[in-house]
Amino acid sequence: LTTGALIAQMLVDPVNLILRWYDELQVAQVSLARLVGVRDIEPDAGDAGLSPEGRDVHADRVHFGYLEGVDVLRKVSLEVAPGTRLALVGPSGAGKSTLGRLLAGIYAPRDGRITLGGAELSRMTAEHVRSHVALVNQEHHVFVGSLRDNLLLARTDATDAELWAALGAVDADGWGRALDDGLDTEVGSGGLALTPAQAQQIALARLVLADPHTLVLDEATSLLDPRAARHLERSLARVLDGRTVVAIAHRLHTAHDADVIAVVENGRISELGSHDELVAAEGAYAALWQSWHG
Ligand code: ATP
Repeated sequence: LTTGALIAQMLVDPVNLILRWYDELQVAQVSLARLVGVRDIEPDAGDAGLSPEGRDVHADRVHFGYLEGVDVLRKVSLEVAPGTRLALVGPSGAGKSTLGRLLAGIYAPRDGRITLGGAELSRMTAEHVRSHVALVNQEHHVFVGSLRDNLLLARTDATDAELWAALGAVDADGWGRALDDGLDTEVGSGGLALTPAQAQQIALARLVLADPHTLVLDEATSLLDPRAARHLERSLARVLDGRTVVAIAHRLHTAHDADVIAVVENGRISELGSHDELVAAEGAYAALWQSWHG
């Protein structure tokens, strides 16, 4: 951000600017935590040899809390095979989103390990983590700059043809090509006002460009109108196809089709299995399913 653009943005949209600073601060904190974490090891140690076959996600007795003395996750272990879809379900506040953030490498476990293809996530550089796993939620940010700048954030060496292909993959090339200045169109504060759905398409196009093999999907309640939400869901389904997906299912019906469902209760995984297995087991999931159906 140039000083001129910064001042312009402060005048136009101070709230957005503060939110953006807050967001960047959080990223900086994560990077700092990583710097501290990687200080004593070889850069990218453990990242070598991550073959497509060896991309399983593994949590091994993971312990985590945001505040000293307050445990949010306790001894969580699970394994997600490449290309499968795991859904995390459970009561509000149980720790689903927290586990998702740990699996996406945003926080490091206090104790225990999270590995990706055998390589420990907290030992990789932030860039390598991002190239393997991404967190998808509805907090999408469109930054001040051109549409091209916003897409290149995901992969700085992408060509214009690749940027258009990414926009096409998420059904955003129609409105993109209709813009007078195309990829040079200024967006963000002071630029073209994008709809929430368009902002989400840009975020999805970034995912297509970054091409991580594992996605952690936080299925928060959609802020979009039903038609836009359906449209976006189709694009998202295409982006998810073929990748390992950990879906934080706040609504039970989205968990139903997952290959494996993990029930998170009070910071622990209490049940693990397919929908049919868990219904047959008549435990917590079966009760949740029954009350949801009722
Ligand atoms: P929901 O379905 O309501 O989103 P969840 O199962 O995803 O719930 P989390 O959001 O992981 O649960 O929260 C687990 C616990 O951690 C809660 O007690 C919550 O208050 C706390 N928590 C979550 N985020 C933070 C944070 N950034 N700082 C401190 N505590 C947090």
